[in-house]
Amino acid sequence: MVSFRDMADQPKDSHELTAEQIKTVLDWLNAKWGDGSETRPAPKCEMCKVAKWTIAHRLVSPVAIHGHTLNLGSAFPQVMVICTNCGNIKYLNALACGVVKPDEIQPQPEEKQDVK
Ligand SMILES: [Zn+2]
Repeated sequence: MVSFRDMADQPKDSHELTAEQIKTVLDWLNAKWGDGSETRPAPKCEMCKVAKWTIAHRLVSPVAIHGHTLNLGSAFPQVMVICTNCGNIKYLNALACGVVKPDEIQPQPEEKQDVK
């Protein structure tokens, strides 16, 4: 197993990842990054060379830019995996990880807000 701090507590509100979603991410990371075995050791942070990671309880998303405006109508859900030693953050596509299912993504009308 990849050495992740136990973050599988019950969510504190409806916007936090459930224990099942966190397990989905852990399984995905163990399959893609390494399972902590001798042949597939836990990945080390490229900044501090320590292999201690945690998963944030909420999904995050970068903001889409259209020209000089922000597009707040679309989201690109990502899982944050954080190095607990130095704070380096990795962003993983929540769809690829299986945390968000394609049918859970609803098309949003284009909403733009000026960046001023
Ligand atoms: Zn680090």
